[in-house]
Amino acid sequence: MIQNYSYFTHLECPKCKEEYDGSTATHLCVCGSPLLARYDLLRLKEHWSIEQLKTREPTLWRYHEVLPVLSPANRVSLGEGMTPLVHMKTLGKTYELPNLCMKDEGLLPTGSFKARGAAVGVSKAKELGFRRLRCRRMGMPEPLGRSIHLEPAFNHTL
Ligand SMILES: [Zn+2]
Repeated sequence: MIQNYSYFTHLECPKCKEEYDGSTATHLCVCGSPLLARYDLLRLKEHWSIEQLKTREPTLWRYHEVLPVLSPANRVSLGEGMTPLVHMKTLGKTYELPNLCMKDEGLLPTGSFKARGAAVGVSKAKELGFRRLRCRRMGMPEPLGRSIHLEPAFNHTL
């Protein structure tokens, strides 16, 4: 593990405030609420500057300090990169919002904004030692499941 690669500390329930160890393989609290990843942001503030972003790869992993994956060796990615803001001139005129923009997430490898969350989730599962995953569709477009299935770096079943 690279020191300070991630400042992830633990999981916390936003509803009842129950805390879980960061190596816990769950995403739900005993009360049923989804858990949130928590980070040591005060320590991060001491060691981080915006200048660091300028030299990093243009992917979601450039923000690794605030992702729950502790080691870059566990990253599973299809190349989820940066996506552009598209100026919506016509719609902006209609609503008198001249600077209206929309983020074009359709350029991600799966064509869905969910690719980033899936990449982090699969990476964390790999880090926790999972060798097989089962994925509910949860509204994900078909290419996401198909794309993850083709990823050779992580042997899993969907
Ligand atoms: Zn709870």
